[in-house]
Amino acid sequence: MNINFNKINKDKVMGDLSAFIDKLISERDSLSEIVRNYNKDEHIEKLIEENTKLRIHSLHTLSVKEREQAREFSNKHWESCKGNTRYILEGTGIGTAVGVQCTKCGVKKDITDTSNW
Ligand SMILES: [Zn+2]
Repeated sequence: MNINFNKINKDKVMGDLSAFIDKLISERDSLSEIVRNYNKDEHIEKLIEENTKLRIHSLHTLSVKEREQAREFSNKHWESCKGNTRYILEGTGIGTAVGVQCTKCGVKKDITDTSNW
């Protein structure tokens, strides 16, 4: 490798390096500031608040099992009849029953995961 380290090249490389180092220092300072001001408890409290809000405003949160079954049903009916999937939620005294229905052929399936009840 033949690098021409003449004066102009050297000045340019040193200038770039210096700018790069300045940028790193300023990034370090701003990250230090973030770490200094970070409040774990406040962050956790905000997340809990957000989670509660999401839970209150959603009709139902599918369990992993329900989601997998719904996806399987949805894929199957999209392939066989190009039908979309309608979700049927039924509030019972002990939990929410979840059903899926194909909008084309009308087939219904109960996918309720009662392990959450
Ligand atoms: Zn169908």
